[in-house]
Amino acid sequence: MNQISQENILVGEIANGLPLTIPVYRLTGNGSGPKVYIQANMHGAEVQGNAVIYQLLEQLKQQTLASDITLVPYANPIGCNQKSGEFTLGRFDPITGTNWNRMYHNHTKLVDEFVTTHLNSSLAEIKQAFKHLLVQSTQAVLDGPAHSINTGKRIALNLQRLAHEADIVLDLHTGPISAKHLYCPEYAKPSASYFDIEHVLLIPNEFDGAMDEACFCPWWSLSEAFKQHGRDIPVLVEAFTVELGSQEKIDLAEAKNDANSILSYLTHKEALLNSPYQPKAMARYGCMLTDYLAFYAPMGGMVEYVAPLGAHIKAGDTIAHILRMERYLSEQPLQVITLDTDAIAILHFASASVNQGTELYKFFTNYFEL
Ligand code: ZN
Repeated sequence: MNQISQENILVGEIANGLPLTIPVYRLTGNGSGPKVYIQANMHGAEVQGNAVIYQLLEQLKQQTLASDITLVPYANPIGCNQKSGEFTLGRFDPITGTNWNRMYHNHTKLVDEFVTTHLNSSLAEIKQAFKHLLVQSTQAVLDGPAHSINTGKRIALNLQRLAHEADIVLDLHTGPISAKHLYCPEYAKPSASYFDIEHVLLIPNEFDGAMDEACFCPWWSLSEAFKQHGRDIPVLVEAFTVELGSQEKIDLAEAKNDANSILSYLTHKEALLNSPYQPKAMARYGCMLTDYLAFYAPMGGMVEYVAPLGAHIKAGDTIAHILRMERYLSEQPLQVITLDTDAIAILHFASASVNQGTELYKFFTNYFEL
């Protein structure tokens, strides 16, 4: 049995002076594998990742580990407690309105100077030195005056500092009501087939504040900067956002499947020795981020969602009915909503009542088999 250690890190204080802490679990490998960092529940209602971390710990304590593995449930100690009535909010900081997963720090500006001072360094030296630079630079922001960092940024920076120690970063989220899907940087496409996830969004080297981007953008930019100096180095870190399904739901059996899927990917990355975990045989479909279609409600009303999530729908298929009862006597109370292109339905809004312009569905369009 592997030992699991726990450290509770301090990421802030609330109004009555109580500390905001996050539990950090660590397993130690033999040091030959890539370091792994996995966190869950940055968005308050997206709780299933905690169950996946539970199932990962249950499995990992029995495996022979090549890698040091850090697991962080309850990554946002405010988010999962942000309730309104019976529902969990927790996607946005209630004070500033900022998305909790858009407050990580972009260190890509460190790349140019680093490359000029490491043109002739070995790959191992580059990896160690740049990792050290990212960790130290994150710590330096945290060490700035307390008045310079807002609540969400302080939480994000504390997590980011841990994540920059790793070579593999997984940020566990869910959609609202959603099929499983994976946000995968384009360069890491071959790795996507080791997850048991049918739907893969391929994303470019663009920073928009999220954890996965904060972890892979600097390394991707580093690889590109070396290329401009005539030297080919691989992108040395992989980071993914794993969308596990729907929010407000804990499903322990499904969490075990998702843990196995993650362990299959970690086996491929040689984080585990003598590992039994293999990817399932399944069709996997990719979509470029630019083809990920947000379909906004063309009218307000009460929605019956018709397109099943994960379903491949044909142009002209009905995706929803919108009920308008104030029109019952005067005109057609039931509107049939169709999509004019072939697509895979990935997720839909969590509520049946929508305003005109609410994001109703998201679809893969121009998708292809991986
Ligand atoms: Zn999320």
